[in-house]
Amino acid sequence: MAASRIVIENCAIATVDAHDTEYASGHVVVADNRIESVGAGPAPARLENVVRRIDGTGHLVTPGLVNTHHHFYQWLTRGLATDHNLFDWLVALYPTWARLDEPMVRTAAQGSLAMMVRGGVTTAMDHHYVYPRGTGDLSGAIIGAAAEMGVRFTLARGSMDRGTSDGGLPPDFAVESLDDALAATEKTIDAHHDASFDAMTQIAVAPCSPFSVSTELLKQGAELARRKGVRLHTHGSETVEEEQFCKELFGMGPTDYFESTGWLGSDVWMAHCVHMNDSDIAAFGRTGTGVAHCPSSNARLAAGIARVPDMLGAGVPVGLGVDGTASNESGELHTELRNALLINRLGARGESALTARQALRLGTYGGAQVLGRAGQIGSIEPGKLADLVLWKLDTLAHASIADPVTALVFGAAAPITLSLVNGRTVVEDSHLTTVDEDAIARSTRSEAQRLARIAATG
Ligand SMILES: [Zn+2]
Repeated sequence: MAASRIVIENCAIATVDAHDTEYASGHVVVADNRIESVGAGPAPARLENVVRRIDGTGHLVTPGLVNTHHHFYQWLTRGLATDHNLFDWLVALYPTWARLDEPMVRTAAQGSLAMMVRGGVTTAMDHHYVYPRGTGDLSGAIIGAAAEMGVRFTLARGSMDRGTSDGGLPPDFAVESLDDALAATEKTIDAHHDASFDAMTQIAVAPCSPFSVSTELLKQGAELARRKGVRLHTHGSETVEEEQFCKELFGMGPTDYFESTGWLGSDVWMAHCVHMNDSDIAAFGRTGTGVAHCPSSNARLAAGIARVPDMLGAGVPVGLGVDGTASNESGELHTELRNALLINRLGARGESALTARQALRLGTYGGAQVLGRAGQIGSIEPGKLADLVLWKLDTLAHASIADPVTALVFGAAAPITLSLVNGRTVVEDSHLTTVDEDAIARSTRSEAQRLARIAATG
């Protein structure tokens, strides 16, 4: 059967390819789920089987945004513990999170995904690590929500096995045993991981953090991931308190601890990485370990400013993350382009810290790199998957800004005329096409209230 084509013309294009190629007015042709051509001027003449032709005048096309760190379940606990640092915030919220059940997790995933997708995310990820005993198939519920929305997805199957009685931070009733966590993670990989070029679902092995998992879970988790050929994800070097915790318990800082447990490598990415010295950054660069930079969450929890410009200088792959919405209530990734740029300029490098184009690269190609998918997504190039966004920049908010990429990154959150994932429309004229946004708003509110009621009963 001949390929079905979608043609977008007369738009500015930021390809985010290796040369940062841009076109002031160009075209993109999508054939089935792949990008067939991109370039200046109108699309090639006499294309066959064109099912849709879009006049992109006043728009910018970019690769779809790639989110590299999130906790979907937190959609039900937004707006709580609003003036806390990380450890106090965790201790305040763990008891509520331990009461999650499958309908809550499914609904929270729908809410988190809907918010991101309507803001231009085409590849999402969820680091889910709360698996209370006997609460159903939580991983399956999350994967199902992503499939229903039509978004490309990585589930980082998390785990915690270091409760307070083992010197950890989470309460004992919120953790799994080492063996249960490893067995459930392996089962999730076997059931859901797709290694193909155009995979819509992938799984990563993701023990939660040094202060909530045992050394053995880190070590055996890394062995499991490498045996299965999947990626590894965790939180690292988020706060000063975490650094102190590692020094007291393990006699070394977080990066050295990760290295000692097999957790540095080109198949690993870590969230935050705020408190890294020069040798930590060099170790990430040398090993190709990736970073999910989460500027809003780091600011809300007063964790500090990650040294993103230094990481990029050392060759560290860096993507952007929303992080869980209990520490970033906005739940958006497109506004993190701006926040990453602004927050990094408050750091040591000042106004030269990041450019608008570097911020866009973090949110697209950089994210694809840390998820191990840079060969398939993250830039607009012939042969890659058709994950792209048509941003509308000709309205009040952006029409007078001199340059489209500057408008997208420095300006207000831009409306979206069209977002494609795998060649399929997921957003049209700022509305989600695959799900009912208002129905999700209602169900997330009622599930959040149900969780609050259950948690209040202790
Ligand atoms: Zn996180």
